[in-house]
Amino acid sequence: MALIVKKFGGSSVGTTEKIINIAKRITAEKEKDDKIVVVVSAMGNTTDELIKLATQIDEDPYKYTREMDMLLTTGEQVSISLMTMAFKTLGEDAVSLTGTLAGIKTNAIHTKGKILDIKPQRVLDELDKGNIVIVAGFQGCDQSGDPVTLGRGGSDTSAVALAGALHADACEIYTDVDGIYSADPRIVQNARRMKEITYQEMLEMARLGSGVMQPRSVEVGQMMGIPIHVRSTFTNKPGTIIREEYTMEEKGFVIRGVSHDDKVAKIAVLGVPNNPGIAYSIFSALAENNIDVDMIVQSIRNIEKNVTDMVFTLSLDDLNMAKEVVDKVASDLNAIGVLIEKDVAKVSIVGVGMLGNPGIAARMFGALSDAGINIDVISTSEISISCLIKSARMQEAVNIIHNEFFPKN
Ligand code: ASP
Ligand code: MG
Repeated sequence: MALIVKKFGGSSVGTTEKIINIAKRITAEKEKDDKIVVVVSAMGNTTDELIKLATQIDEDPYKYTREMDMLLTTGEQVSISLMTMAFKTLGEDAVSLTGTLAGIKTNAIHTKGKILDIKPQRVLDELDKGNIVIVAGFQGCDQSGDPVTLGRGGSDTSAVALAGALHADACEIYTDVDGIYSADPRIVQNARRMKEITYQEMLEMARLGSGVMQPRSVEVGQMMGIPIHVRSTFTNKPGTIIREEYTMEEKGFVIRGVSHDDKVAKIAVLGVPNNPGIAYSIFSALAENNIDVDMIVQSIRNIEKNVTDMVFTLSLDDLNMAKEVVDKVASDLNAIGVLIEKDVAKVSIVGVGMLGNPGIAARMFGALSDAGINIDVISTSEISISCLIKSARMQEAVNIIHNEFFPKN
């Protein structure tokens, strides 16, 4: 007997036919005594469609964060009920639970909630009764019972955290790709599927834009020691396992992958006085509004005027709110102006192999330079290097960098 959490993303449950096929596959594959928890996303582009509806009421609906959560949680509720009915037509006992009913408790930060605790008693009771339990991903509730969503892609985190709370034997993330690749296979033809990847590398790749897993889910997996098996909904290929360490076979690549992200924007606060506390006033104001900042560059001080420019990138989703915050701080600081660029993208390389390997950055910059692609901002972490470039050249950049490190044979 095994307790298995299986998560199916939006494209996997995009149609009722797909939902029925998943129910059939799970029913066929499960052993008699297995306990199965299925976590589902909203069908197809439902979440985007719901957001679009909201923008028809107000062009920036995210200022009504609680109402956005009330709206967005409906998407996953559609999937859990339909999936449950699909199991029942096959003669399986099944029950649907919202995040709240599954005991997923979050903080009160609407649309960007974090799971604080899971009290999965109801899930365990239903499993004991012999039910397959279908849980709505992406959602939980705060202390007062209000619905809270976990950020885009949050169903991954629901699944991994539930697997942890249930002490599951396995956590399987089913998706439309058959594992984690060295680059997005839709962009890079000869991208390589990895058998295994470490939490640390996956976290970095996810943070830098590899869309397969929500970064938070990888963090939760690492914290709780849950190996995460990413695999295809539509094939039986072995997929990729995310865990603490990988085996010899997977070693030997200095970098593990090339990530990209064009959902970024750049803000430059120009001509701020070069005094202590300036960075603090800008970034604390953003933090108070729960806006994450990514790359940060402070330019060299202009000696004559004793002013400096503060440049940073952030998620495009946060741009409207950030602009309001930054405009206000900039005028308080008597800055010369605020510049915004949306047509930027970030390409990154990731791998623990680059630790103590100084030639790696040069190879990345060299590949971009050979193609005449200008680098606007550079940032690094221990295991990654990122370059901000024009979004129009992103696909090309990903390919040439991938070729540099994973040459075609
Ligand atoms: N439906 C949500 C989204 O589109 C959550 C998820 O799919 O994981 O972001
Ligand atoms: Mg996803």
